[in-house]
Order: sequence, then structure tokens, then C-alpha cells
Amino acid sequence: MMNCKQATELMSQELDRPLAWRERMALRLHNLMCRGCHQYRKQLAFLRMALRSRAGGD
Ligand SMILES: [Zn+2]
Repeated sequence: MMNCKQATELMSQELDRPLAWRERMALRLHNLMCRGCHQYRKQLAFLRMALRSRAGGD
């Protein structure tokens, strides 16, 4: 089971590279049980979306 540090590191790496399926699984499992990381991930997803729409890309 990964800890919060590993989870947040994976979440930021996820912005730069596709995660392996076992990384995604471990992260998802952690987020199911960890409220803090769950919220953090939601914020990251929101930020990424905001950045992408500002870039005006496809
Ligand atoms: Zn956590």
C-alpha cells in the first residue's frame, strides 16, 4: 500500500507521463481510502483542465 507522499508524487507525474496500469491501480486504491489525496487529485484535475483551456489547444 502506498503512502500519501508516493500518491502525490504519482499524481504529479501523471501530468507529465502516462502511468502504468499498476501505478494507476495503486493510486486509485489509495484515493479510495485517503480523503486528503482524493481531494488533492480533484484539485489537480481541475488545475490541469484550467491550464488546458487557457492554452487553447485541441
Ligand atoms: Zn493519501
